[in-house]
Amino acid sequence: MKVGGAVGNASGNVVADLARRTDYVLVHGGSEEIDRLGHALGRPPVHYTSPSGVVSRRCDPAQMETVVLALAGKVQTELVASLGARGARAVGLSGVDGRLLLARRKTGARAVVDGKVLRLADDLAGSVEKVDVGLLRGLLGLGVAPVVGPPAVTADGEVVNVDADQVAAAVAGALGAEALVLLTNVPGLLRTPDDPSSVVPRVERAGFDEALSLAGGKMKKKLLAARDALSSGVGRVVIGSSRTEGPVGRALAGEGTVFV
Ligand code: ADP
Repeated sequence: MKVGGAVGNASGNVVADLARRTDYVLVHGGSEEIDRLGHALGRPPVHYTSPSGVVSRRCDPAQMETVVLALAGKVQTELVASLGARGARAVGLSGVDGRLLLARRKTGARAVVDGKVLRLADDLAGSVEKVDVGLLRGLLGLGVAPVVGPPAVTADGEVVNVDADQVAAAVAGALGAEALVLLTNVPGLLRTPDDPSSVVPRVERAGFDEALSLAGGKMKKKLLAARDALSSGVGRVVIGSSRTEGPVGRALAGEGTVFV
């Protein structure tokens, strides 16, 4: 299960639903909280556009500090506390804990600024290369729900930011999960981005590229995560809303966009 952290997500619904279940790993993002904390610390968030047009969060060392404080410090702690309050035993782990998420640092991040391409040598973004499933299975075996989020860590011990949808796909793939559910602030992949009734109900392999062409930047990352998870053996992926009651059950029953 992954719950997003952008404005409009309702993680309370997800926690209430998960607390009745066992046998899940919860992955979280936290972009609203990173932005809020950044403003509070007087270091407002910065985004940059790559030469190919992809918009990313800038992760220089100062911004990275905010990312770690917001995700591992606050969002994760609160998710674990609310699961606990509902009687679940949950443990929060960033990718650094036990080297759960081993990543490679992305070199060569480049930004277009005033028409010029600049190399961002100090950017601390990475991509997940390996998940320590032994640690996750150990916790699940103890009846403990792992709550997992960025950052990840490199083999050299550098703490890097990684995309939470990519983390969810990597965790689901490594565990051989039956399903990966990505809960977000919209009811699924929308044919018309502003029309919540235009959910694409099902995407099969042959229709994947067409589906990808409907998705804007943030949704594109979820589709790519869905494809990664399916190609590493996950049975199905559902993108659904976190904003309804019982969002996990609804998504598992096929509400949202189902990828097979
Ligand atoms: P989260 O924090 O839940 O992971 P994101 O903001 O990263 O959420 O991604 C969800 C966002 O993707 C939506 O709020 C929407 O603005 C955007 N989006 C772009 N294109 C689409 C689309 N075709 N269908 C649905 N959402 C889209």
